[in-house]
Formats: sequence, structure tokens, C-alpha cells
Amino acid sequence: MPPKFETYDLIVIGSGPAGRRAAVQGAKFGKRVLVVERGRRVGGVTVHTGTIPSKTLRETVLNLSGWRERGFYGRAYRVKQDIDAPDLLKRLHITLDHEVEILEHQFARNGVETVRGAAKFVDANRIEIDLDNGDIRLCSATRFVIAVGTVPYRPSHIAFDGKAILDSDQILDLPSIPRQLTVIGASVIGLEYASIFSALDIKVTILEPSDKILPFLDRELADEFIHDLRDRGVSLRFGCKVKSASTDTQSRCVIETEDGRELGADMVLFAAGRVGATDTLGLVNCGLVADGRGRISVDSKSFQTDVPHIFAAGDVIGFPSLASTSMEQGRIAACHAFGEPAQEPPAFFPYGIYSVPEISTVGMTEEEVRERGIPYECGVARFRETSRGHIMGLSAGFLKVIFSLETRRLLGVHIVGEGATELIHIGQAVLNLEGTLNYFVENTFNYPTLAEAYKMAALDVASSEPEAQGNAPAGVQAVSQAAAPPRALETRASGTVSADVLKSFADATSDSITVRTVSALTPGTLIRIGNTGFAAGFRKLAAACETLPPAATEAHAELAPARADDRGR
Ligand SMILES: Cc1cc2nc3c(=O)[nH]c(=O)nc-3n(C[C@H](O)[C@H](O)[C@H](O)COP(=O)(O)OP(=O)(O)OC[C@H]3O[C@@H](n4cnc5c(N)ncnc54)[C@H](O)[C@@H]3O)c2cc1C
Repeated sequence: MPPKFETYDLIVIGSGPAGRRAAVQGAKFGKRVLVVERGRRVGGVTVHTGTIPSKTLRETVLNLSGWRERGFYGRAYRVKQDIDAPDLLKRLHITLDHEVEILEHQFARNGVETVRGAAKFVDANRIEIDLDNGDIRLCSATRFVIAVGTVPYRPSHIAFDGKAILDSDQILDLPSIPRQLTVIGASVIGLEYASIFSALDIKVTILEPSDKILPFLDRELADEFIHDLRDRGVSLRFGCKVKSASTDTQSRCVIETEDGRELGADMVLFAAGRVGATDTLGLVNCGLVADGRGRISVDSKSFQTDVPHIFAAGDVIGFPSLASTSMEQGRIAACHAFGEPAQEPPAFFPYGIYSVPEISTVGMTEEEVRERGIPYECGVARFRETSRGHIMGLSAGFLKVIFSLETRRLLGVHIVGEGATELIHIGQAVLNLEGTLNYFVENTFNYPTLAEAYKMAALDVASSEPEAQGNAPAGVQAVSQAAAPPRALETRASGTVSADVLKSFADATSDSITVRTVSALTPGTLIRIGNTGFAAGFRKLAAACETLPPAATEAHAELAPARADDRGR
């Protein structure tokens, strides 16, 4: 007698954010839904090894180390003097248990069946489930959602041992806290863990083969973050390609680089990528193929694969690989699977990086805006300039907004610093509702808050608009306003400007503009303050020119960006 297959309307493989939302949505349509999960408990990477654990660890470290109070009480301040691995793990288990309970309840409430075991396609409509007790369960369905997520990439040249050389799943079972940690790969995960461990005053080294971190970030944000890490003593080595990592006879880690160097480490975290968990899924039996990194390609709107009744969602389809976006993908996939209307998500979603400090971004980066040739202006507010920032003792962190000069619409928001992942949602709302600069300038914000930084950054932009420039103090007059290229403001000094004064002024405002070559300024000298963010620079320069000593020799000044990139502020 042929084996009997139990029949469902929808089988979802994987119970992470994508699988969970697909299953619940299917059940809400009145369908019989089965979720197959090979892990010990439901929840996926988000609950067990990724999002929730790493964020819980972060919160524990920030609390026990007294990190948030160090702005006031100094770098040596600690809430708990000796922090060990059990201290870090205790909170983790409580949080995870709670998350799993919520999930199990959600499945039960919606009548979603779950089974523990590894699923494998037998053909395009049938799967076998390898149960824990060694039995095989056979199930069939008219529709499938593949939501198997990813597993850490484990190349053969890294000798993982789960004790001293770990991947990003193993770090959560940390046997002890190392004195030194080397992170291979400045990925989101690598940077999150590197900065969390650095907050524990552990010496951290990051090895990154390329010459930059997180290419999708606004460069100014990335530069600030790198500066912050280095300021805390984190060693960040770019262009460093790892040839091998192993442990020696004294259990010390040895890392060989491709340029022939040998680096020692107490512990190594390999965080250079993840691959789709498709290798044992029997994709070939259902007519699908994964790419070299185990990912399945889908239609970007419906999440349908090349096999019409099979959908895929979440990390297994690639970027952006976030829990937040995976949930939406799962929901939309289930809607399309049953031919139900699926409201598409708005164009812009936020990206949160829970490093220390946090980073969050929504919309276009300055580099993207520039590439597209959109005339734009940026405004920046530093958290230390807000009252809330003073109260909290914040010395770092900023919020940057980008607006179109033609439509005044918000184009992007980029935040690094305390609360970035929460603050970003204000920007996200305005962006998706197609709001303009006026929203921030005209609205009242709670005071004191970090959210006020939005208003300050917007005012920074507003004050650079032509009518605002007309109010510049005497001493410097704007000579090319609306007609000027939007990325720079040219002015002429009408007072006499000493090189030294201008230099010291520029040094004092080094986060705004800096002087590359200055001898002196005389009346009529052309001053160029570029490129974006010129409003703040203009105001400061104008103020400086008013208080200049009379004596100065004739020369010229060139104001150039303070940072390595080509922008001044
Ligand atoms: C360290 C770390 C930190 C992260 N931090 C964040 C963050 O702060 N914010 C954020 O939005 N995202 C974060 N992410 C990403 C987030 O975890 C993922 O985007 C999300 O989990 C993807 O969801 P998913 O449903 O696609 O797959 P997953 O959550 O990976 O779930 C897939 C599930 O499928 C199961 N499975 C696999 N193969 C089979 C099979 N053959 N049969 C049965 N079951 C199978 C797995 O056991 C797993 O439970 C982080 C990830 C990591 C690793």
C-alpha cells in the first residue's frame, strides 16, 4: 500500500518571523496550516540565536557595565564590578522563554498545527518530515511557504571549536568572558557583537577584508561610528584578509592573514556572512534551485518562486535579512498564495543596527541622492546639543536629515547614537507620508527629548535657504544665493580677517568646517564654504568675521571639509 500523506492547504517550513506570519495569515483565511520546525522550539533565528538574544545581551551589558552613565561618572564607572558569563546569560534565558510562550500561544490561538522535525521535499506537493524520534511523517499541501532562514557561513579555513573559535550562533553559549576578542568580518552581526563586548572593556579587534564597513550606510554615519569605536580602543583593521584561524597547543587562537602576518587572540568570533538553510531541503525534488549562497529567488512583489504554488520569504531570499521585513514578506506571501489582496508595505522601511552606539537609517543616503543628481541639502543635529542629551550625559551621536531642494521633501534620515532605532520611526512616518521640511520646522516636539534633534537638523537646513541667508551678520555677505550651486555657498569677506583667527575659529568648529590653507583674508576675499551643511558653517564664519582684528595681510582662504569625504558641515 502506498504511504499515506496527511493533507494541508498550506505547509510552512520554518517558524521564524517569515514562517510565523505566513502561517497565521493562512490560518486567518480559514485554511488548514502546518508549520514544520526542525529546531528544539519554535521561533527561528530571531528568538533563539539572532535578534532577541543579541539585543538581550546588549541590554544586559549596558545595564551591568553602567555604560549609559559613563558620560557623567567617567569611563571607569561600573554597576557590577566583575561581570561573568552567567550574569550575561541569565537574562537571556528568561527573555527567550517568554518569547517562545507568546509564539506558541499565537499558533494555538489561530489553530496553526506545528510539528518538530526537518522537512524535505519529496516532490512539488509533498514533503517528508524527519521527526526527532527517528520516524518519518509524510504530508502534502497545495501551497508552500519556504521560510527556512539562514545558518552561519562556516568556511573550512576557520577551525571552529565552539570554545575559542565561534560562529555567531555559538557566541550565545559563551563559556567564559575573554580578555580579548577578535571579530572576523565587520558585518552587522560582527559590529554588533564587537561593540557590545567592547562596552565590557574587553579589548576587541575587528578584521575586515574590504576598506569600509556596511556599504549601504550613509558614509558620514559610518565614519562617525568608526571614530567612536576607535576612540574606545577598538582596533579596526581594514584590508585584512584571513587565511586561517585555529587554536595552538595552549588553546590560544592563531589567525594567519593573507599578507603573511600571524595574530594571536583569546577568542575569535567569525561573523563574515550567513547562507540560506536550503542544503537539506530537497529543492531539486520540487523543481527549485538555490544560488551559491543557498538563497532562493522570488518575485519581489508576490514572493512566488519559479514553481507557482511554492513561495519563499525571509532571510532565505536575501537582503535585507531583517526580522521586521521577514514578517511582512511572510504575510504577503500567504496572501498571494491564496489569491487574497495583499496590501504592499510602504516604500521605506528602517534598518536598525544594535551596535553600541546604535545606528538606524531610513530612505536615501547622501551618496544615493548625489548619484541620482537630486539637488539636496543636509541638516545635522548632535545629541550633545539637545537638552535631553545634556541630561543623559551624551557626548556622541547625531541625527542627519536630507531634504530635496526642489520639493523640500524628506529624502532620508540617518542616526547614530542612543535611541537611534526608536527615533528613526519619526523620520520613517514623514518619509512614507511624503512630508517636507515644514513638518519638522512647524511642529512642536516634546521637550526635553532626543527627538528634538529632528527639529534642530531641519532648522539647520531651513536657515540655509536663500531668505535666511539674507539675515547673515555684517562682515560676510552671501554673493551667490539661490543661483549658486546648491552644494556650496560663496561669500565675500567685508571685514578684515586674520588667518590665525580664522584658523582657530575653524579648529574650534572642526566638526563643521576646517581650513585647509589660510594665510589671511582681506575685504573682498572670496570664501567658499562647501558643500552641504553650509548653513551652520556660514553662520559661524560670519560671526567670526565680525570679531576679527584689523591687521591682516593679503592672501586667500580655502575652506574644506573636515572629514575624509568631500563634505563640510
Ligand atoms: C546575531 C543576529 C542578530 C540579528 N539582529 C537583528 C535585529 O536586531 N533586527 C532584525 O530585524 N533582524 C535581526 N537579525 C536577523 C533576523 O534574525 C532574521 O532576519 C530573521 O530571523 C529571519 O527570519 P526567517 O523567518 O527568514 O528565518 P529564521 O528566523 O532563520 O527561521 C528559520 C527557521 O527555519 C527552520 N528550518 C530551517 N530548515 C528547516 C527544515 N528543513 N525543516 C524545518 N525547519 C527548518 C530553522 O530551524 C529556523 O527556526 C539578526 C540575525 C542574527 C543572526
